Amino acid sequence: MSEITGLERAYTYLKGKRPDKMPLWHDSMYLAWKLSGVSDLRDYVINPEAIARGYERYVEQFKVDITGAYLDQWALYEVLGAEVEILPHVVQPKTPSWRYRPDRGVYEKFRDVDDLDKYDPRRGRRAAALFKAWGILMDRFGDKVLFRQGIPGPAATLALVVGTPEIMRDVMIFPGLLDELRELLLGPVMDWTVQVSVMLVEAVDYQNFNMSFVTYDRSFLDPELRKWLASIDLEFLKRVRNEIGWNVPVTTHVCSYDPDLDFIYEHFGKMVNELQFYSPGSTYPLGEAVQKFGGRIPLCAGIDHLGTLYAGTRREVEEMVKRSIELGKECETFALGPGCGLALGTPLENVKLLAELRDTYGVWS
Ligand SMILES: [Zn+2]
Repeated sequence: MSEITGLERAYTYLKGKRPDKMPLWHDSMYLAWKLSGVSDLRDYVINPEAIARGYERYVEQFKVDITGAYLDQWALYEVLGAEVEILPHVVQPKTPSWRYRPDRGVYEKFRDVDDLDKYDPRRGRRAAALFKAWGILMDRFGDKVLFRQGIPGPAATLALVVGTPEIMRDVMIFPGLLDELRELLLGPVMDWTVQVSVMLVEAVDYQNFNMSFVTYDRSFLDPELRKWLASIDLEFLKRVRNEIGWNVPVTTHVCSYDPDLDFIYEHFGKMVNELQFYSPGSTYPLGEAVQKFGGRIPLCAGIDHLGTLYAGTRREVEEMVKRSIELGKECETFALGPGCGLALGTPLENVKLLAELRDTYGVWS
C-alpha cells in the first residue's frame, strides 16, 4: 500500500481520528529564507519565487505534513499603516511617532477599513509577494501538504498596527476612547479582518483557517480584559465560520508561555478542530493537557522549540520527542509540533531528526 500524503494525514487528525502516524507540523520564516538561497532578507520578503522555493525546500528537507508559509507578522497590516524596518537579517516594527506624542487621530483611519478596495492587504509589497508565493506553493504542494494559514482577530489587528502599550496608554488618557474602540472592533475592523481571513483561506485552496489565541495568556490578561477580548474573538470566529463553512478545518495557534488552555477550550473548543499549544517548555504540562483534553479534541504539541530543539543534543531531542509521543498516544489523536515558528539558528540536524523520530515512534498501531 502506498503511503498517504501529509495532507490526508493532517485531515484525518483534524477530524479527530488516527492516521497511519502522527502528523508533523512546524514552520519557520527564517529557516525557509535561509533555504531559499537569497542572502539578503530585504530581497527575500518581496520575492514570491524565493519564498515559494524556501518552503519547497523546507517541505522536502524536513518532511513535514503541516507547515505554513509566513513572513513577519506585520506583512498583512502594512496597508493599515504598520511600518517595519527590514534589516539584512531581521524584520522588526518601526517605532511609531505616536509612541512619543499620543495622537487620537491614529484611530480615525480604522473607520473605513472595511472598504477593501482601499485597504486590500495585497497593496503592500510583502503581502503581495506572500499571496503569490501561496499560489505557487498550492500548485506544487496543495494536494500533499497542509499549509496552516490565518490571521488573529480584530483586537490583535489594532494592536499590531498601533501597538499594545500605546493603545493601553491612550485608553487611559483619551476620554471615551475605549467605547470608540469597541465600536471599531465590532464594526469596520471586524469586517476587514473577516474579509482578509476569507482571502487567506482562498489563497490556500480552502485547506484551513488558522485562528490565533496567543493573547490568552494567564500572566498577561486580567479576567475582565480576557472576557472582553473573548466576546470579540468569538464574534470574529463565528463570522469566519459563516463565510467558510464547517468543512474547512480551523487549526489553532497558542504559542504563549503561560497558555490559558482551559479558557480557550471552554470558549472556543466547539468552533475549532484542534488545540495547538507550547508544551513542553511552557507552564502547561503536556501530561495535564493530555488528561484534560486528549479525549475531547485533537492536540498538537510536544516539541520545545526554544529550549531542547534549539539548544539540546541529539539525545535530548530524542528523549523529548519519545516522551511526547508516549503522551500523545494516550489521546484520541495527536500531532507533533512546536509552540511557534522555529528560530533562526535552530540546528538543522535537530530539525531533520523530528521526522525520523516520528517515523520510528509516532506510528499508531
Ligand atoms: Zn506564535
